[in-house]
Amino acid sequence: MKVSIIGAGLAGCECAYQLLKQGVDVDLYEMKPTKFSPAHKDKNFAELVCSNSLKSNLISTAGGMLKQELRILDSLLIKCADECAVPAGSALAVDRYKFSELVTSKLKSFKNLHIIEGEVTDLPEGYVVIATGPLTSDSLSKSLAKLFGDNYLYFFDAIAPIVSRESIDFNVAFEGDRYGKGNSDYINCPFTKDEYMNFYQQLIGGEIVQLHDFENSKVFEGCMPIEVLAKRGVDAMRYGPLKPVGIKNPVTNKGYYAVVQLRKENVMGDYYNIVGFQTNLTYGEQSRIFKLIPGLQNAEFVRFGSCHKNTYINAPKLLNRFYQLKSNPNIFVAGQLSGVEGYIESISSGLAVGLNVYNLISNRSFYDFPNTTMIGALSNYLENASSENFQPMSSNMGIVAHNFKDKDKQVKNTKIANKSFEILNNMLN
Ligand SMILES: Cc1cc2nc3c(=O)[nH]c(=O)nc-3n(C[C@H](O)[C@H](O)[C@H](O)COP(=O)(O)OP(=O)(O)OC[C@H]3O[C@@H](n4cnc5c(N)ncnc54)[C@H](O)[C@@H]3O)c2cc1C
Repeated sequence: MKVSIIGAGLAGCECAYQLLKQGVDVDLYEMKPTKFSPAHKDKNFAELVCSNSLKSNLISTAGGMLKQELRILDSLLIKCADECAVPAGSALAVDRYKFSELVTSKLKSFKNLHIIEGEVTDLPEGYVVIATGPLTSDSLSKSLAKLFGDNYLYFFDAIAPIVSRESIDFNVAFEGDRYGKGNSDYINCPFTKDEYMNFYQQLIGGEIVQLHDFENSKVFEGCMPIEVLAKRGVDAMRYGPLKPVGIKNPVTNKGYYAVVQLRKENVMGDYYNIVGFQTNLTYGEQSRIFKLIPGLQNAEFVRFGSCHKNTYINAPKLLNRFYQLKSNPNIFVAGQLSGVEGYIESISSGLAVGLNVYNLISNRSFYDFPNTTMIGALSNYLENASSENFQPMSSNMGIVAHNFKDKDKQVKNTKIANKSFEILNNMLN
């Protein structure tokens, strides 16, 4: 039995390893070094295109928890990352060249791996894993648009920051919907004129992430970062996402000069996204400037916002929780293209796909990772997120199901992580 994997990036390499070690023949298609995306530079597989950090190793953080899960599940890429680590405090940072070299040589040591160099423009027949990443080549994107449907393939993402509910000051903020319609799904952060003017001034002067040449402003027309909107004029935000009409204080019935709205991000309602606040401000500036929003002065940011070039699909429409195409069970999508966001998340999806493609071709039942694990919570998000305005997701504690309570967040998160490790170890036995 043979499996074709398109793209030898983070997801494709992890997926390949999971199949190769089971003795499955793998055709690994990679366009490098014949053709490079605008961000890829190195001839080796599994290239880290930007930062060399794979986030924290602390299991009380989402990134640390996910990496430990991947270690339990025998991830080749996390093993290589551990071997290529450079000192970075509690984070796992790697020597990027050694890392890519090591992953490449480990994969090449398998006799059942067949590397097919060159750009893929149409999918091969049979079992296929598409793992061509956020910078999938244009020709392949065109044929994928036919497969997925034009409306379900996107080319940039616009992510608003997420804050924890417990960090919002409800002496200032209040729940309620515009014109009182709805079920109090929103939290409102109201501005006086002075507060708004101060916020506006800081926002238009905030430090922006340096975009790559290929991420020109045209790419982001549909996403409109909040700071770009603000720069259009002092009142632009008040006629957009900060529109105050129809929002009154439930006790005093008072209206406001401007209002930022927060919308529930997860079913449990302990995380909220700041509506319309997709941004290219640096993380430090997001923390400083968004804390000027009344009620968010002590905000804990679970995820920061971003706006960047990213090819990804509308996963809730197209995939099931096994990253398998609903319309064709022989095709899987792994990595950033599937709608996960980040290095370790791409590795995680590649691993899950590798395990279940093997299960599919050997007539075994699929591993169904529960939502109490980070690896399962990510695929659950892809399956169940709203398909309207679907946005990619990185690992975060807000998507993991649990019943733990503790005032100390680190203690609570450690319990969540340990429970997940116990579940995964049991699944393997
Ligand atoms: C500019 C940029 C910076 C990023 N920085 C970070 C960061 O700092 N931290 C983080 O956590 N995440 C970052 N990401 C997001 C993401 O985690 C990484 O892009 C990650 O590498 C995605 O893994 P992947 O396996 O899905 O894709 P990739 O690792 O990009 O692998 C895809 C592979 O497919 C190949 N390919 C593409 N098209 C074809 C084709 N038609 N035929 C054959 N091969 C093809 C590519 O050459 C590539 O090797 C960044 C993304 C971008 C675009």
